Amino acid sequence: MKFKKILAAVAAMSFAVAAFAGCGGGSGSSSSSGAKTLKVGSAVDFAPFEFQDETQKEYQGFDMDLIRAIAKEMGSEADIQNLGFDGLIPALQSKQIDVAISGMTINDERKQNVLFSDPYYDSGLTMVVRENEESIKSFQDLKGKKVAVQVGTTSAEEVKKIGNVEVKELNTPADCFMELKAGGVDAVVNDRPVNDYYIQKTGATGVKALAEKLTAEQYGIAINKSDAELQKKINEALKKLHENGEYDKIFAKWFGEQKK
Ligand code: GLN
Repeated sequence: MKFKKILAAVAAMSFAVAAFAGCGGGSGSSSSSGAKTLKVGSAVDFAPFEFQDETQKEYQGFDMDLIRAIAKEMGSEADIQNLGFDGLIPALQSKQIDVAISGMTINDERKQNVLFSDPYYDSGLTMVVRENEESIKSFQDLKGKKVAVQVGTTSAEEVKKIGNVEVKELNTPADCFMELKAGGVDAVVNDRPVNDYYIQKTGATGVKALAEKLTAEQYGIAINKSDAELQKKINEALKKLHENGEYDKIFAKWFGEQKK
């Protein structure tokens, strides 16, 4: 009888341990290959930073390569989940993910809710208009116009500051570009490298990107507010990748000879 009780207690304990390991294990949980898993969230619709290529099994892009290299440096494996951009910070807060990498601009508002790694990419906002557009040459010309932006982004915030702009907030940059082509809006405001990639690499026709920059922004990897330890590890890994040339390799793969 006593023996049975001990057995039951042992079984209950190992169940509890297994359950504990399975939930919120975060950067400590294990993948099938035995390596630790870094649970990564990204809104995978932001080429060339994160996007899906039908011919490839894995998510592609600068951020995707960078976070895989960072995870590897930390002795982990990145397990990347595709989430909506405005769902990334909530997913960090609920610990569904350990980090978010998604061309996310470091700003004070977000810093109230998450920690950021050191900056890893210099960006900013530009706009795309239809090729035959004559009345929009600068951001001030957006007054009285209709503009599409991605919901929850710095673009959405900055365009509202211009004043007297009719802002349409859509789910993805692809939705914004479609709306522009269909004539539903007069301009799209979005991150410069994404606008440039859209025009140059996807062979988009009938639209042009304007050179003027509305803001200068820097991207960071977002981390749960209480996980300063993970922030430190990510920064160390990032530093190592800068030192050993891996960052430069990944940069050159996606941006060629462009200045950093
Ligand atoms: N850099 C912008 C922001 O942080 C847009 C990011 C994105 O759409 N993935 O708001």
